[in-house]
Amino acid sequence: MPTNDPALGSRRQFIKFAAGAATTIPLINLAACSESPPASAPTKPAEPAPPTTQAPKPASPPAPAAAPQPAVEPAPTTPPAELPRLAESDPTAVALGYHHDATKVDSTKYPRRAGAEGAKQYCYNCSLFLAKGQEEWAGCSIFPGKAVARNGWCNGWVPKA
Ligand code: SF4
Repeated sequence: MPTNDPALGSRRQFIKFAAGAATTIPLINLAACSESPPASAPTKPAEPAPPTTQAPKPASPPAPAAAPQPAVEPAPTTPPAELPRLAESDPTAVALGYHHDATKVDSTKYPRRAGAEGAKQYCYNCSLFLAKGQEEWAGCSIFPGKAVARNGWCNGWVPKA
């Protein structure tokens, strides 16, 4: 039975559209599901990305604090090494007329050693003699590193003050 009610026609058109959609949408879903993997398929866990930079170096340990130094004990006192004796043939000794025995000095060549006053001159009463006590041999400021005889003499003699 035909009708002229426009609302009724519109309702029929809606029902037709809905029925068509009801049959079409499940088909679309089926097609879509057949192309994608099933939802129950196991998924591979994502692997961790390889390191792109070098592993950070471990922090270097802090420099150890300076260990306390043990107290330095003074070296045992040893007597000073004896100086080598000055040779009478040493060029400086020859130039100054040095002799281990002052009585052997040629007083004609070295007049300072001549006479009664000159005969009193010895290394032991020379201000350049470096003896600490009564040593027979000791250093002399004119002959560094060498020992001269206590009873020696040279032309560099200087009276003790
Ligand atoms: Fe002796 Fe004095 Fe001459 Fe030295 S300077 S050798 S101590 S006299």
